[in-house]
Amino acid sequence: MYVVCSKHLEDAIEEFIEAYEQPPDLYELDTITFTEWTTPSCCHYCDTNPKYLIV
Ligand SMILES: [Zn+2]
Repeated sequence: MYVVCSKHLEDAIEEFIEAYEQPPDLYELDTITFTEWTTPSCCHYCDTNPKYLIV
């Protein structure tokens, strides 16, 4: 599972496919709410605010 900014979205998808050999589900962080999980404050690859959740 990754949270990434829009700039690193493609990197995260490629990494996910390499790791799990299937395409990830993609969610926009703005459109979902978490109850038991706090959204990480920065992208998996950089310090930018994350925009997408990849699972
Ligand atoms: Zn990033």
